[in-house]
Amino acid sequence: NNLLLEVKNLKKYFPITKGFLRKRVATVRAVDDISFFVREGETLGLVGESGCGKTTTGKVILRAYDPTDGDVILHVDGTEINVAKLSQKELKSVRRYMQMIFQDPFRSLNPRMTVRDIIGEPLIVNNVAKGKELDERIADLMRKVGLRPEYMKRYPHAFSGGQRQRISIARALALNPKLVICDEPVSALDVSIQAQVLNLLIDLQQEFKLTYLFISHDLSVVEHICDRVAVMYVGKIVELAKTEEIFENPKHPYTEALLSAVPKPDPKMKTHRILLKGEVPDASNPPSGCYFHPRCSYAKDICKEVRPELIDIGNEHYVACHFAKELNLKGIPIT
Ligand code: SF4
Repeated sequence: NNLLLEVKNLKKYFPITKGFLRKRVATVRAVDDISFFVREGETLGLVGESGCGKTTTGKVILRAYDPTDGDVILHVDGTEINVAKLSQKELKSVRRYMQMIFQDPFRSLNPRMTVRDIIGEPLIVNNVAKGKELDERIADLMRKVGLRPEYMKRYPHAFSGGQRQRISIARALALNPKLVICDEPVSALDVSIQAQVLNLLIDLQQEFKLTYLFISHDLSVVEHICDRVAVMYVGKIVELAKTEEIFENPKHPYTEALLSAVPKPDPKMKTHRILLKGEVPDASNPPSGCYFHPRCSYAKDICKEVRPELIDIGNEHYVACHFAKELNLKGIPIT
């Protein structure tokens, strides 16, 4: 497939200031020089613990935050648009290509707006439809996400968590986007509802030819929806590969630890839960060398001094670990 999105050397630093003069006392490197691409129609997972920079990455791609440096290239209808370099005015016409679905459907919907107004807003703002045609478009979107159009005049509080997430999805799809950034779209939902919403996202992807960037801390969710997975740690990508490779043949000790926490499908399977030492480091003051070295049970002297680059070890598998080719790490079978 063709490329839809290329992220090149993307950085987002937040200054921490102090006092009346706002003197800069530290810099949080929330996204620290990351590069990846997403092909048309595929789903790339972005995983890691909270605070690793995955949501910030999504927001910088959408230009909810301006990047500190780097490029975000969107390929649309044969043209390349560098979203990172657009002015606010130029961004307006590009925004419809990229939409975001948020984690918390309770907070992301305005409680004072009816479902009709919520889903219809992007269509009205962009002069896509009005009057009867608008209502037909809204009804059609509601049907597509499994909601009954006769509930159009109701307010979000009248819907369950799963239904509210369906409303957010309908709103995100209103302008026929190319890329949808799903930020933990099922983690606020009951486990019983999670699979339904994931299946809906998969069906809609095929119907609307969507490309997803799927942000999650939960590898068992990622397994079902992603074609490839990028693992982030303290603002950097430490491993990126096809989902099957990540699960069955991890090459970074951090990925191995995350996988060890995934519930096993077969209760007879031996668990080898790896408990990581210490906390996720502060992104304003990361450790020397490999950021993971204070928590890594495979660390050697070089790890404290030299930061490993993300290198291609073949088969579209990228790893940032000095010992990626030597370590014999444990994965888990994909179900
Ligand atoms: Fe562990 Fe060293 Fe690899 Fe970092 S470079 S993940 S500390 S073995």
